[in-house]
Amino acid sequence: MTTIVMKFGGTSVANIDRIKNVADIIVNKKKEGFKIAVIVSAMAGVTNDLVDKSKAISSNFSNEEYDVLLSSGEQVTSALLSACLIDKGIKARSMLGWQIPIVTEGQHKNSRIVSVNSKPILENLNNDHVVVVPGFQGVSEKLRISTIGRGGSDASAVALAKALDAERCEIYTDVEGVFTTNPDICDQAKKIEKISYDEMLEMATLGAKVMQSSSVQKAMMNDVEIYVKSTFAPEKDGTQILAEDKISYDKVITGVAYTRDDAKVTLVGVKDKPGVASAIFKPLNDQNIVVDMIVQNISAETQKTDVTFTIKRDDLKKTETILGGLKSDIGYDKLSTDNKVSKISIVGAGMITYPGVAFKMFNALASKNINILVISTSEIKISVLIDDKNTELAVKTLHSAFELD
Ligand code: ASP
Ligand code: MG
Repeated sequence: MTTIVMKFGGTSVANIDRIKNVADIIVNKKKEGFKIAVIVSAMAGVTNDLVDKSKAISSNFSNEEYDVLLSSGEQVTSALLSACLIDKGIKARSMLGWQIPIVTEGQHKNSRIVSVNSKPILENLNNDHVVVVPGFQGVSEKLRISTIGRGGSDASAVALAKALDAERCEIYTDVEGVFTTNPDICDQAKKIEKISYDEMLEMATLGAKVMQSSSVQKAMMNDVEIYVKSTFAPEKDGTQILAEDKISYDKVITGVAYTRDDAKVTLVGVKDKPGVASAIFKPLNDQNIVVDMIVQNISAETQKTDVTFTIKRDDLKKTETILGGLKSDIGYDKLSTDNKVSKISIVGAGMITYPGVAFKMFNALASKNINILVISTSEIKISVLIDDKNTELAVKTLHSAFELD
C-alpha cells in the first residue's frame, strides 16, 4: 500500500465546517487505499492571535514559552480533525511532535527539523490508522517544545514525507495550484500543471505565495514530490512540483512573478578603487540587510562610479542611516533612494536552451514604454526593476509576450 502525506493549511481548517470538509477529503483518499499521514496548520488567525497574546503579557516574552504557546494552535487542529475522522468511522489518532519525536535544533521560534522518528507513525499506519501530526513544531534536544518559523508546516509536511518515504506530499491550500502569474492582476493567468523545484523556488522567492520557499528547497534536496491542490475543489488537478528531468518544456517561460516590497538605493560618485564595494556592503551585511540586485557603472574618466542596489523596503531607513555614516569613509557625492519600485521576473527552465529571451523581455517592456532601472539574471530567471506604477502592465505584457495567455 502506498503512503502519502496530506498537508492542510490554516484557511483549509479555518472553522468546524472546513475541518469536516477536510475529514471528507481524507476519508475519500483512504477509500482509494492509501496509508495517510496528515500535517495540519493552526486554524486561520489562531497563530497571530497567540502572538498578540504573548505581546500583551510582555514585550520580552520568554522564547521557550513562546514556542509552547504557538504550537498549541496546531495541537487544537490535530485533535479536532482526528476526532472528526473517528466520528466518520475511520481509525485515526493525533501524534504531537514530542510524542514522535520530531527533533529540532537551533534557536527557539526558528528551529530546524533534524530528524523524524518514523517508527511509531509507521506502526500506526500499518494498523490502518490515519495519523494526524501538528505542523510547525518539534522538540529540542533539551526536551523543550520548539517551533520552526512562521509558515513552517509546509516544511513539516516535507520532512514527514521524507521520513516515511512517502510517494508524494499533497499540499492542500486555498488556491487550485501554482499559476503562471497572480490571477488577481492578470486574468489570463493559467494553472501550471508541472513545475520544477528550481522554478518553484524562484517563483516562491519572487512573490508567489503558494508554498514557503525553504520547504521547496527541502523537497528538492530530498526528492520529495509535491502536489499542490485546492481544499475547496479537491477533484481538480493541481500543480505538481518535481525534478526538472520529469518535465518536458514546450514553453520558454513557466511563469511571471513580481515583488512590490523592494527599494532602490544609489550611491552617486563613489571613488572607483579597490575595497569600496566591500566597505559599502559589509556594514549592511552586519545588520542582516539582504542586498538583492546590484549594478556598478564604469566611469573611467572621472575615477568615480555609481553603485545601485536593491534591498527590502522595510530595511530602507536602516540602510540610509548606515550609508549616511559611511559618507566620509567612502567619499561618495550623493545618496539617493526610491521605494516606489517593483521587481518583475520571468522564470523558466526552458530559457536555458533558448537564445534571445532577455531581448524579447526588454523589447516587450519597451513597446509599452516601461523603463528598466536595474537588471539581474540567473540561469532560469531574468528580473528587472521598474517603477511600481507599471507593475500590472508589465506583468500582463510579459505574460502575453511569452505566450502564457
Ligand atoms: N501556524 C503557523 C503560522 O501561521 C504555521 C503554519 O501555518 O504553517 O505561521
Ligand atoms: Mg501556510
